[in-house]
Amino acid sequence: MANRAALPAPAGAIKNTESPLDKLLESLDESLQNSCSPLRCISCGNPVTTREECFSVDGQTDFHFVNPGGYKFDIRVYRNALGCYPRGDATDEQSWFPPYRWQYALCDQCDLHIGWFYKDDNGDSFWGLITALLTNS
Ligand SMILES: [Zn+2]
Repeated sequence: MANRAALPAPAGAIKNTESPLDKLLESLDESLQNSCSPLRCISCGNPVTTREECFSVDGQTDFHFVNPGGYKFDIRVYRNALGCYPRGDATDEQSWFPPYRWQYALCDQCDLHIGWFYKDDNGDSFWGLITALLTNS
């Protein structure tokens, strides 16, 4: 959490739940701190995306899911991921982000299954990439 909460509130201010402005400032802080930080495929070192492409879905950047096979995944969502590509037919079956349909996302250098590509009927899209398969070193 930001230190902002420790600042004295103006007289008469009522501590409210976090405002949209606070959230915006916090995400701005984060993207500035992390700008120009490539995230690389852990298998081949290909730059897959960058930290500043991280965004939030319903106020969340990180998700924990269990697929129908019982495998657990920690994923983070990114607006763009230029170093991977979608493969397979888009499906809404067991989608973690309905109404978005998903395809597998593979590293475009080594074809590692690195996450999923999500797209809705309006053309809005994002990537959900497996945290453990990306490295910033
Ligand atoms: Zn790779």
